[in-house]
Amino acid sequence: MKKKTFRGGAHPPERKERTEGLPLEYVRSVKQVVIPVNQHFGAPIHPLVKVGDVVKRGQKIADAEAKMTVPVHASIAGVVKKIEPRMQPNNIDGMCIVIESDGSDATDFLPPLDGFACTKEEALARIHEAGIVGMGGAGFPAHVKFSPPPGKTIDVVIANAAECEPYLTIDERTLAENGGDVVEGLAIVMKALGVKKGVVGLEDNKAQLVAGIGDAIAKRGHGLDISIQVLTTKYPQGGEKMLITAITGKEVPSGGLPMDVGCVVSNVGTLKAIADAFTKGIPLIERAFTITGGACETPKNLVAPIGTLVADLVPAIVKVNDASLRCIVAGGPMMGVSVPNYAFPIQKNTSGVLLMDRAEAEASEEGTCIRCGRCMRTCSCRLSPALINESLLANDLEDAEAIGLLDCIECGTCSFVCPSRVRLVQRFRVGKQLLRGKKQKEAQSARK
Ligand code: SF4
Ligand code: SF4
Repeated sequence: MKKKTFRGGAHPPERKERTEGLPLEYVRSVKQVVIPVNQHFGAPIHPLVKVGDVVKRGQKIADAEAKMTVPVHASIAGVVKKIEPRMQPNNIDGMCIVIESDGSDATDFLPPLDGFACTKEEALARIHEAGIVGMGGAGFPAHVKFSPPPGKTIDVVIANAAECEPYLTIDERTLAENGGDVVEGLAIVMKALGVKKGVVGLEDNKAQLVAGIGDAIAKRGHGLDISIQVLTTKYPQGGEKMLITAITGKEVPSGGLPMDVGCVVSNVGTLKAIADAFTKGIPLIERAFTITGGACETPKNLVAPIGTLVADLVPAIVKVNDASLRCIVAGGPMMGVSVPNYAFPIQKNTSGVLLMDRAEAEASEEGTCIRCGRCMRTCSCRLSPALINESLLANDLEDAEAIGLLDCIECGTCSFVCPSRVRLVQRFRVGKQLLRGKKQKEAQSARK
């Protein structure tokens, strides 16, 4: 099979060897969960429960009317003990619902739904009701992603198993152990959208999975045209735009979406969650993630209820060398967020937790740009990171926007290749927040 890829990118050390091939371990008996109310991209939602309420596993506990939202469900059965701000994986305090287990396994799931007999509207409503968001990245509501506006048609649904972030091995394990469910979820989405073609895209460091995925397509693909595409292992191959370019040859336009070129991309974990929501009626209440890093003595691929505190996993389930621990990261090393301690919960889009030692976390001092051009050559979004950085250093947000700040996918490749260790992606993240805040203020004053 001919491998495909995209222009640009980099080859950071993969460091997946400590967890690749390790079977998923299920964390079933947590005493409490701390569930962030807003763990999706989009409009905020609000608690539907109050302190003292008894909830069942799968019961809806937060929701809102807006379309660009998804509800949140209790991931264990128990009693609501607190509703208060807690640290989230983005290192920002947000409202969380704290549930203490009552030791029961009372459930409140949805009735199963035949994804091949229901209407498109029923299918999208199920994906929304099950609280499903993109589990590989920003937590974008899946039903919105699968709802192209009138006039736009989708030709291909891509299952994203690139897993290009170093250290993380959870997509690999999901495909290896639950490949049938992933294919079932892909087939359900194809049926709902009336799409004829599906592709499972994975990097060649996971090529050993191809035969198993082929079997899963034969057994659970419902006779649909689903193929497998092996991709060159390169960062950020799992970025939606890069994956689309590699697989279809099409380029998502600046400021555009995958649906602008007839594509929808969905992480394999998301597709498995969709299969569970239809075949078993189970909303998104648990997820798989990798916990690893140089300071982690027992690296694992775990599946835990949403809201499980990492503090409740260490040291009971995961052993850490405290003397060597230097940095805790929620997510992968390229796009993750550094957090001060273990008191944060696993949420719907948490694909990994890194416990880094001194060598991994070594933070070198930021130097000045020497205009070597490496960042521009490697940026797969064809941006000029050095120039955007200059605009941000000059506090010129308009100029930064004009030269593409909002097209940056925050992959961190430019920071990785910069010989002067210029804090490019870090500055772009802050710049994007400032720019969005400024636009919101302008929109509010225009409405007054
Ligand atoms: S500018 Fe943005 S998209 Fe380009 S390499 Fe840097 S972080 Fe990635
Ligand atoms: S890679 Fe670093 S030093 Fe080179 S041009 Fe970009 S910002 Fe400047």
